[in-house]
Amino acid sequence: MTHEVDFLIVGAGAAGIGAARRLSELGASPLLLETMDRVGGRAETRVVNGHALDLGCGWLHSGDRNAWTAIAERSGFTVDRRAAVWGQQFRDLGFPREDQAAARRAYEAWTDRLADAASSSDRASDALVPDGPWNGFIAAMTGFISGVGPERISAKDYITYDDASTRNNWRVVGGYGALIATGLPPSATVHTGVAVQCIDFTRDGVAVTTTVGLIQARAVILTVSTAVLASSAIRMPPDLELWQASAASLPLGRNEKVFLEIVGDAPFEDETSVLGNPRTRATGSYYIRPLGAPVIECFLGGDGAGVVDQGMDEGFEFARDELVGLFGSDVKRFLRPLAASHWHRTSSIGGAYSCALPGYAAARARLAEPFDDRVFFAGEATHPFDFTTAHGAHDSGVRAANEAFAAVTRGARLRGFASAKVHED
Ligand SMILES: Cc1cc2nc3c(=O)[nH]c(=O)nc-3n(C[C@H](O)[C@H](O)[C@H](O)COP(=O)(O)OP(=O)(O)OC[C@H]3O[C@@H](n4cnc5c(N)ncnc54)[C@H](O)[C@@H]3O)c2cc1C
Repeated sequence: MTHEVDFLIVGAGAAGIGAARRLSELGASPLLLETMDRVGGRAETRVVNGHALDLGCGWLHSGDRNAWTAIAERSGFTVDRRAAVWGQQFRDLGFPREDQAAARRAYEAWTDRLADAASSSDRASDALVPDGPWNGFIAAMTGFISGVGPERISAKDYITYDDASTRNNWRVVGGYGALIATGLPPSATVHTGVAVQCIDFTRDGVAVTTTVGLIQARAVILTVSTAVLASSAIRMPPDLELWQASAASLPLGRNEKVFLEIVGDAPFEDETSVLGNPRTRATGSYYIRPLGAPVIECFLGGDGAGVVDQGMDEGFEFARDELVGLFGSDVKRFLRPLAASHWHRTSSIGGAYSCALPGYAAARARLAEPFDDRVFFAGEATHPFDFTTAHGAHDSGVRAANEAFAAVTRGARLRGFASAKVHED
């Protein structure tokens, strides 16, 4: 383990890897510490029964301006640019066409009213029609998109993401998690299974206590989730309380995935989709045979994500029951449990992605501010408009790397640090 470094990156998820790539381009050799035994964080492709399953991020949102799209193509991954079929109810099962149109209209009218809510209470639920027949459907959608119901969403935050999205949602053949995990540059050193426990300031930099000893760094880039930052998992000096408070106003919502394998001659068609129950907020969105694989990916959000709390079996049962409700009891025999996520219960993550509480959209910019040219903050929650995403996380890492590099080189010049280990070549 190195004991003195210029750049220490805490967390090897999309943001940490994005920061490492940028520092490497600038000629530096960062050290990454990751508490899990793998890199990628909320990006994880797990191969089960030969199927590459993305337990976390799966979609290259805004694919046409997503940094991972270019990285994928340069690294030999294939990008599938077919449009996503979510929102298209296969054969209108359990969701008659006129109801689909009514639900869509109600959702669009709600998003139109969000601007008014943003300038008053900023609570997204205040834009709902009281007792509106499609309020459950709208809450199910916000559960998928933000991981929480509209009561806990800043209308301003919601609009900011929505306005920035290009609506091009693409996929990486072989898995988004696999792509991100291969993104580490050769000049970076990564230690997995090492947790940062405490951050302290020294005269010239930062002293970082880890499970394997003390590291002195000129600059630290913190990429841990807002749930981790706001908790006491990493002890920090009182100077960073403002950052912890900002993180607390950007809590992680809840999203989980449950994967089922299709065996035998089941009536499931490639690249189709169904919503489990359009009349409740606790339901699953099912992507059937994605990219032709004999798999069903059930995406759970907000209240619906709670079904995996009791364990994976409950998640599998829930997904199977919703599918049986739509396709008939015969399909049960074609479905086998494959894998399920438990992001909410993973202590080094603590949920899915950040969502600003009503009145706190500005917390993202506050969280992105560096502290005293020595602690820099990255991670999806710090992106001004692509928050919640893996490409937003990547770009936030690039931003923090630029800031840290400028600060260290400026400091080295001004304070005459002969030992600054930044390579200029
Ligand atoms: C179910 C689900 C579906 C999603 N779908 C999509 C999608 O389709 N498209 C999309 O773009 N995004 C999606 N996302 C969001 C996306 O995965 C995240 O926004 C992104 O991966 C976050 O990256 P990050 O680097 O900011 O954070 P993280 O991935 O959380 O990285 C932070 C790292 O810090 C580590 N860490 C924490 N504490 C410590 C410590 N004390 N010491 C050392 N290391 C520590 C963590 O283990 C973690 O690896 C999804 C997320 C989930 C959960």
